[in-house]
Amino acid sequence: MTTHREPLDSVLATIGETPLVEVQAAPDDVPVYAKLESFNPGASVKDRIGAYILRGLLERGDLEPGGTAVEPTAGNTGIGMALAATQLDVEVVFVVPERFSVEKQQLMRALGAEVVNTPTDEGMEGAIARAHEIVADRGNAVVPQQFSNRLNVEAHAATTGPEVDEALGGEVGALVVGCGTAGTLMGMAEYFLEREPAVHVTAVEPEGSVLQRTLGREVEDGEYAIEGIGTHDPSTNELFDPAFVDEIVQVSDREAHAELVRLAREEGHLVASSAGAASVAALDVAERIEAGTLEAPHDSVVTVFPDSSERYLSKGIYGTFEEWTSE
Ligand code: PMP
Repeated sequence: MTTHREPLDSVLATIGETPLVEVQAAPDDVPVYAKLESFNPGASVKDRIGAYILRGLLERGDLEPGGTAVEPTAGNTGIGMALAATQLDVEVVFVVPERFSVEKQQLMRALGAEVVNTPTDEGMEGAIARAHEIVADRGNAVVPQQFSNRLNVEAHAATTGPEVDEALGGEVGALVVGCGTAGTLMGMAEYFLEREPAVHVTAVEPEGSVLQRTLGREVEDGEYAIEGIGTHDPSTNELFDPAFVDEIVQVSDREAHAELVRLAREEGHLVASSAGAASVAALDVAERIEAGTLEAPHDSVVTVFPDSSERYLSKGIYGTFEEWTSE
C-alpha cells in the first residue's frame, strides 16, 4: 500500500489509503469520520473493486488474458474497472442505464471502454440482463457482476475496513454506509463485526428505494435522484445480508441535497449525493449515540463519502433542489 511518498510503477498502486476526515457538524462527544473515496485515481470508492475483481477473475481463470469483462454499472465501477483493465490486458464493456451522469460515461470511454446504454425505466435490472446477452454473443467474456460477486465484498474487507481500523485504533462504534451493491457496507461490516460484534451497523438507502423489504418492512417504491445507492428490486442485491445490519434508514433527495451543499460550503467537501445521504444518516446515528438511545461499543461513527460532485456538475448538483432533480 502506498504512503504517497514513494515513486510508484502504476496508477493502480495509488488505489486505497484514502484519508479519514471528521465531519465537523457531528456532536462534540461522538465524532463522525468520513472516508474520502474521491482520493482514489478514478475518483471513487469503486476503484477498489475494479482492480480487485479483475485480478481475482484472472487469477481464478474465470477470465483469460485478452478476454472481455462486461459489467452493468451506474458508472463508477466502470471507471474503476476500465482503469484497472488498461494495465491487466482485459477489454471492458459497460452497460449503463441512460439516466446516469454523462461525465462518468465520458471517463469510461476515455479509459478505452465500450459503453452500451439501456433505457432508464428498465433500471439496473435491465442493464444486468443486457450484460448477460452481450457475453453470450461474444465468447471469452464474463460478467464480473458486482451485484453478486463476493470479490466486491472481499475488496472492502481487505482494504477499506483495515484502513479505518488502523486510523482509529479499533475504536469504531457504528458504521453508517450507503448501499448500492452493498459491497462497501458488507465488506466493512464483516471486517469490524468479526473483531467487535457489538458495532452498530446502519445501511443507508434513498427514500423511494425498497431495500427495507429485506427486513420485512413494507415501503413504497418511488423515484429518487440520489445516484449510486438504492434498489427497486432487492433480489438483485445478492450481496446484501440483512443479518449484518441493525437497521436500514432512508434519506430523502431533499435532505441529501441540502447536506451535500452544506458539506461544500461549510466543510470544503466536494462530494456527491450518496455522500450527502450517508452524512445525514451518520450524523443522526451520532446524535442517537450521544442521547443514549442507541448503544454502541465506542463513541464514534464511520461513514464513506463515495465520490466527487465534479462528476455531476452537468446534472446541476449545485443548483437549487428543483434544478438538480429536474435534470
Ligand atoms: N455511491 C456511489 C456514487 C456509487 O457509485 C456507489 C456504487 N454503486 C455507491 C455509493 C454504493 O457502493 P456499493 O455498491 O459498494 O454499495
